[in-house]
Amino acid sequence: MLISEVIANLNTYAPEFIADSWDNVGLQVGDENAEASKILLTLDVDIDVLKEALEIGANLVVTHHPLIFKPISSITDEALVFAIKNNIAIFTMHTNLDWATDGINDSFARLLGLESIEPIRRNDDNGACMGRFGSLKNSMSAHEFIKFIKQKLGCEVLKHSRLTQDVGVKIKRVGVCGGAGDEFLAECIEQKCDAFVTSDVHYHLAKEAYSKGILLIDAGHFETESLVLKPLSNWLATWFNGVEVAAKCKNYWEYKL
Ligand SMILES: [Zn+2]
Ligand SMILES: [Zn+2]
Repeated sequence: MLISEVIANLNTYAPEFIADSWDNVGLQVGDENAEASKILLTLDVDIDVLKEALEIGANLVVTHHPLIFKPISSITDEALVFAIKNNIAIFTMHTNLDWATDGINDSFARLLGLESIEPIRRNDDNGACMGRFGSLKNSMSAHEFIKFIKQKLGCEVLKHSRLTQDVGVKIKRVGVCGGAGDEFLAECIEQKCDAFVTSDVHYHLAKEAYSKGILLIDAGHFETESLVLKPLSNWLATWFNGVEVAAKCKNYWEYKL
């Protein structure tokens, strides 16, 4: 299968046109007329991931975060040079994968076993949806829910807004947004969510959450997005033979207790 054909299929899953206008998605490096040998899936591209691609014979890396984001005036970046020299194509599905049906946010909601999943926000122009609401099958205490999130997302640590007496009662209705989801707290409060799980949260939002009695959890950017890689690779494997999730895909935060 040609890389262009792989891309056409990927665009049925997370179409490039549903990406945010400020984003840079699509084929960033490589020749789309080349035959795709193997596909390596990752959240980020760096030199380690590219070396892994070369080792396993993958000439197409599909990444969530773009390697090229701001306009560049020269090609000296180690990873970019390596990809070009070794004929490795790099394809980015960034905010289009955040917005997509079965993308990051549906994967997140499903991982938590949420029921009656609905979008937090819908784009009226293209129908794509960001963030998800849903209900846990069985309600749990805030402490149980925090433990549940740590276990489901594999978080070494997480931070959450200060618990109020109210929040201690039960968590049933939950909002999720993979990656930086600050802007959706207001909708989660409006929709009477008991908890909202996202990442990259600013301090003042913890105060807002505390005063409104919603449990706000910052579970980490990597942790709330890398969860898409497995379902995405499963889907890819239904029509492409030779898909792997990068073992070198890594969290650039380290935690110290
Ligand atoms: Zn994202
Ligand atoms: Zn992200």
